[in-house]
Amino acid sequence: MKHVGVLGYPIKHSISPLFQQAALDERGIDARYERFEVSDSELPAFLETVRNDEWLGVNITIPHKEAALTYMDQLSTEVRSIGALNTVVNDRSVLVGANTDIGGFLNALESQGHSVGGSRAVVLGSGGAARAVVAGLQDAEAEFVVVVSRTFGRAQALVTSLTRRGARPVVVAVDWDEAGLRTALRQATLLVNATPIGMRGGGAEGKSPVSTGMLHRELTVFDAVYNPTYTPLLRDAREAGATTISGLDMLVYQGAEAFELWTGVEAPIETMMAAAREALEGWKAHV
Ligand code: NAP
Repeated sequence: MKHVGVLGYPIKHSISPLFQQAALDERGIDARYERFEVSDSELPAFLETVRNDEWLGVNITIPHKEAALTYMDQLSTEVRSIGALNTVVNDRSVLVGANTDIGGFLNALESQGHSVGGSRAVVLGSGGAARAVVAGLQDAEAEFVVVVSRTFGRAQALVTSLTRRGARPVVVAVDWDEAGLRTALRQATLLVNATPIGMRGGGAEGKSPVSTGMLHRELTVFDAVYNPTYTPLLRDAREAGATTISGLDMLVYQGAEAFELWTGVEAPIETMMAAAREALEGWKAHV
């Protein structure tokens, strides 16, 4: 039996084991996917273990997405350009760092019929999720991207580093104030929440990052928050007549891309999606 899993700290709320194991079982792959709580100091030794023949690879989550880069033998183009990885593949004892959040975001949108090319996008937040989202929007040739962050300097740094990556599209940072946000959203076709606002168990649970008056029917609204699946932002967006897409779709698509890198087998998306939905229902019942 092979091993695979997710490393993070803390890690007990990750639902990846539930939908990844469902996919391994569906495809008849003899492997077990588990959660591993790994501290900063334990990370190098753990990644050395992943080189062993019985390991397919691992997912990497907070807080190790940047620190893990140091221990890789090879990095994908995506990882080199955004400076963070979420997947490690053990390719015959060579550790390859990959980032499937970019593809996960794009596939989530495209699977719901939103064509990203030509989008006029507003992205809220400037952390890890925002970096993957902005890189994805660049790859898919959005018309322009406005990054809105409460820490303007962080948004500016994100824009500067990703602008070096490619000339298109235009990416700018603006302050998080009502007037600036309202103006940006009036012209936008896509709104992405890449902050934890609305996340169950977080400091802004039950809240939406924007006021309802800013939402309109020409918008597609994507919320990276996946727990709950139907966030206050998505609820307001639907009431405003906008198209809504849940972060759960991105979570499952990034997992599906990782599954394919580890196994070389097509991921069973429907099975993974159903298992992820069921896992979140179970999570709700336990808190
Ligand atoms: P992160 O690196 O910590 O970045 C969070 C960003 O949100 C920062 O820009 C932070 O601003 C901003 N922020 C936090 N609280 C805020 C508030 N109350 N008001 C305004 N801005 C606020 O986190 P991350 O890894 O990007 O994750 C962000 C969210 O996306 C989380 O809920 C995470 O679960 C979700 N996510 C989902 C997926 C998926 O597959 N669906 C993948 C990755 C992440 P400061 O810099 O000022 O602190």
